[in-house]
Amino acid sequence: MPELPEVETVARGLQREVVGRRILSVTLGKTDFIDNPEMLEGELPGRTIVRVERYGKFLLLRLSPGEEAKPDEGEVALLAHLGMTGLLLPREVSVPQAKHTHVVMPLDDGRELRYVDPRRFGRMAYLAGEVLSRELQRFGADPLEAGLEEFARRIQQRKARIKALLLDQSVLRGVGNIYADESLWRAKIHPAQLGARLKRPQVQLLYRKLQEILKKAIVLRGSSISDFLDADGMPGEYQQHHRVYGREGQPCLRCKTPIRRVSVAGRSSYYCPDCQKMPRGWKKLRKRKSRQKRGARH
Ligand SMILES: [Zn+2]
Repeated sequence: MPELPEVETVARGLQREVVGRRILSVTLGKTDFIDNPEMLEGELPGRTIVRVERYGKFLLLRLSPGEEAKPDEGEVALLAHLGMTGLLLPREVSVPQAKHTHVVMPLDDGRELRYVDPRRFGRMAYLAGEVLSRELQRFGADPLEAGLEEFARRIQQRKARIKALLLDQSVLRGVGNIYADESLWRAKIHPAQLGARLKRPQVQLLYRKLQEILKKAIVLRGSSISDFLDADGMPGEYQQHHRVYGREGQPCLRCKTPIRRVSVAGRSSYYCPDCQKMPRGWKKLRKRKSRQKRGARH
């Protein structure tokens, strides 16, 4: 699933490619991932894309007021989440439509902005005014914008495991499974450690490492592990720099201990059992849980 660096890459590509272009019309295919398809069809035509931003794992296409300006509509945007397999790309009209193209928006320069998504785990919504600001307020801080103090406060205020906190979009917006595991390995923190139990130097190191890898991944246009492509249709390259994600059974690049995979907060997590010390009580808890599972099966 595209995370902060991948979405940032797409946002930058779209910012370069489609800003200033007017949307002429909207044609929809399957619409089960769209909040309100009629709003897209009714509201987008005639509006100009004035800016493309990343907001957490969302793309936010900021739009101009419509032709018949509504005095109190406020800020207007098309929100898009690429889900697992979504692609939002400008294409020449002459380029045949890919299979699973569900949204086509002809632009005033003769191209079309197309949304392609085989699995449709994404989301698209036209949002304006209050509804837009309420939607955005649900999310936590951007890890590249948050200062150390805010980062520390956010991951230490709640009694939850650090992996769960990093993935929780209301704590920090934009981090997913890959960059959570990568930053925890680099900071030598076990994914099941409680956020509130982290020592100050650990929090500091995690903050630094997370920012470091996110910035580096943006430079390399993200990680392409399934079929992520940026707005120019190019894959990212950061997957070549993964140290722990997807490396179960392979030697840790620091200490050669085989990397393990464990489920934390319902998500699979890759870690080094030697470099990332298990928190006290975690082994017992896991044993109890697996006994319960076995018991439930019998
Ligand atoms: Zn190790």
